[in-house]
Amino acid sequence: MTGFRRLAADILAELEALRAADAPTHGGHVLSYVYDSGLPELDELAARAAQLVQPVNGLDPTVFTSVAAMEAGVVGFARRVFHGDAEVVGSVTSGGTESCLLAVKTARDVWRAGGGQGVPRLVAPTTAHAAFHKAAHYFGLELDLVPVAPDTGRPEVDAVAERLDSRVALVVVSAPSYPFATLDPVAEIAALTAPLGVALHVDACIGGFALAFWPDAASGALREWDFRVPGVTSLSADLHKYGYAPKGVSVLLTRDRDRQRHQYFATTGWPGYPVVNPTMTGSKPAGPLAAAWAIIEALGEPGFTELTARAARATAALLTVIERIDGLRVVGAPTGPLFAVATDDRVPPARRVDPHHWADAARAAGWHLQLQPALTQADGTRLPHTTHLTVTPVTEAAVPELSAALVAAADAVRGLPPIDGAALLAELATALPGGVDALAATSAGLDADGAAAWLTAFGLLGAADTGGALPDRLAPVLALVAALPAQLTERLLIELLARVVEPHD
Ligand SMILES: *Cc1c(COP(=O)(O)O)cnc(C)c1O
Repeated sequence: MTGFRRLAADILAELEALRAADAPTHGGHVLSYVYDSGLPELDELAARAAQLVQPVNGLDPTVFTSVAAMEAGVVGFARRVFHGDAEVVGSVTSGGTESCLLAVKTARDVWRAGGGQGVPRLVAPTTAHAAFHKAAHYFGLELDLVPVAPDTGRPEVDAVAERLDSRVALVVVSAPSYPFATLDPVAEIAALTAPLGVALHVDACIGGFALAFWPDAASGALREWDFRVPGVTSLSADLHKYGYAPKGVSVLLTRDRDRQRHQYFATTGWPGYPVVNPTMTGSKPAGPLAAAWAIIEALGEPGFTELTARAARATAALLTVIERIDGLRVVGAPTGPLFAVATDDRVPPARRVDPHHWADAARAAGWHLQLQPALTQADGTRLPHTTHLTVTPVTEAAVPELSAALVAAADAVRGLPPIDGAALLAELATALPGGVDALAATSAGLDADGAAAWLTAFGLLGAADTGGALPDRLAPVLALVAALPAQLTERLLIELLARVVEPHD
């Protein structure tokens, strides 16, 4: 064969240099996006399993029978830990978003098949993952968001009840929610939906594989959040989160074969091979599936229980640390290995800690917490801006160092008021003709260059290229996000992400 244009060693060295600039994926310094078991040998096993199936096409498990065997193994494990019986079937998908999209599409098609007329509705608490906004957008459902109580993050069951009519194709609850780790009242809501025959999806994407093994999971609220609740029709749980698999693998379980068949797409209406797809992709990798399968085989229930116990101990320790920090508070009653932190408004302003300044101070010390914006709900109530922490098994070893950093970061910013987004916006807008009024007027009608000009004025886009790096401080960025009309922010964010990956030469 002809030689490579470059030496393999040089190519890999270049990639290693690029990787070195990434946020650290291991060691617990990034408290979102990555889920580190803390077991390098598990990562090694996953990598070897993925490599073994690298050339396989997951599109056709009748040709590549290893895919069928692994998928049956993964679905079987998920069904067992989420207490599904033989009526519960499932698919492995490319991630939480695909699982959520498919749950919505399936429910819509079941609703239509049952005679549903007009535009179907999707009812969910405000805290439901954005993947459901995307699903409603993609599949033509009206999204009806139920406000949650700002102090607990929980929706009122009565408010859900009021919305249930013949146009509701699906109700979604979270176990737990991403923003505040709220365990929604699954059983209470199922008691409403089941008699009406309305589908109920439990989004356990983030926490499912942790909640199933949570200490004392057999007692309290954790007795009733999965298929043990009769009215639950589907459940999603991500293996690339607390299943510790590399990205690209989640499971969607559905109660009742006939319901689940609505998830599929099949056609013989073209001159190529007959198409039958359970999920959204055609050709698909088997690597993430193989990795997840191998991890499940290696850990089994005892291994998951032990890793979950580590994450649970670390979470409890960090919650105690936060509770002792003057000026901060934990939002609501988080369930599982994640939580959000807000300003404690009960103390005088001089003692308050703004969660976004706090996150920036922690980031300067090498700890990446995730900033979440405030949100005004449909009923006018306002959810506070917060900082999110996702805790993984590896965090346990880092708790002493991380706790000290969280305390020091709070001390460094205590009394510093939150950034006034409107004032910042007015100041930055002076850099562009027409100022802030011009910005408001352009709204979502901005073209790509117009949007890029605003991003540059905001200091978010270098004139030539950005290399994808974020600014040092994110609090001002989030304050701007909160101050701008949502449609405009969304347009600017699209531009930012698009420019980050555009070729720079
Ligand atoms: C992560 C997450 C999703 C979406 O999953 P992706 O794997 O990021 O596509 C959906 N719901 C919840 C609650 C999540 O945390």
